[in-house]
Amino acid sequence: MKKGLLIILSGPSGVGKNCVRQEIMKSGKLDLAYSISMTTREKREKEVDGVDYYFVSDEEFQKNIDAGNFLEWASFVGHRYGTPKDKVEELRNKGKNVFLEIEINGASQVLSKVHDDRVISFFLMPPSFAALEKRIRKRQTESEEIIQERLQKGLKEMTMTENYDHIIINDKISRAAQEIIDLVKAKAKKR
Ligand code: 5GP
Repeated sequence: MKKGLLIILSGPSGVGKNCVRQEIMKSGKLDLAYSISMTTREKREKEVDGVDYYFVSDEEFQKNIDAGNFLEWASFVGHRYGTPKDKVEELRNKGKNVFLEIEINGASQVLSKVHDDRVISFFLMPPSFAALEKRIRKRQTESEEIIQERLQKGLKEMTMTENYDHIIINDKISRAAQEIIDLVKAKAKKR
């Protein structure tokens, strides 16, 4: 059996990574499993522990770092986020394509650690910076200070996309999702 693909999706905070990923999963067009990350950030109102993230304390996160449990981890605007390693391998070995929604430092760790050629990476871009700002404000989940930090971080991230295989413009969720589906299907066919 072919090992499943590792699909990386990055992009600035508020660009709509989550919506695009949900659209891809809903379509059922890819045999996909989502890797649930661990984070030290507080849960947002609509989020569910164990579905959106595993929400843990700083101590718990540190224990997982010390035990070598992460494929990658990174700090992002005051909190830590990491990908549990075992699950990813287990699913890929069963032939499932595994989807990681992670920021750029984590993505470059994965790209330097995973040495098989069944990895495909995407960077999701907003159609404009104004559109990104509008989206992040509409979400109404962060304070003004955090919004500014996330926007600044996003601006920087958008200049650091050279390691990604594909840049996708999120002008429309369904279109961006379909573009990713088509590229993943083409990659999956390759030996
Ligand atoms: P948020 O707090 O908005 O959910 O996520 C903040 C950023 O952390 C986003 O860019 C998100 O993709 C990224 N992120 C989520 N999980 C992980 C992870 O496991 N590792 C890394 N490196 N970044 C993550």
